[in-house]
Amino acid sequence: MARKSLTTFEWNEEGERLFGADRGEWKFVCPFCETVASIADYRSLNAKPKQIGRQCIGTLIPEIRELGSKATGPCNYKADNCAPVRILDDGESECAFDFAQPQEVIE
Ligand SMILES: [Zn+2]
Repeated sequence: MARKSLTTFEWNEEGERLFGADRGEWKFVCPFCETVASIADYRSLNAKPKQIGRQCIGTLIPEIRELGSKATGPCNYKADNCAPVRILDDGESECAFDFAQPQEVIE
């Protein structure tokens, strides 16, 4: 999978370009199970800001968490050094999922 690095500013631009100004509509794809989830989906599961687009939505669902590594989608993957996107912000970097493409639908 292609890696890319973006500043927070570029990342926000990319989100708006793909999905518009309403951040609830921004969608991310888990690089492990390919589940697509929107920010609104994460928020509906009481995600903390640092969890959104950084870990699979499965990590927020108790039934999926119980499955551990057996979960196949949504799963329990959290962005690590293998994540497709690195967000650079003031010298700090964090790993994140890539944006979904707007035509992808949520199951
Ligand atoms: Zn996943």
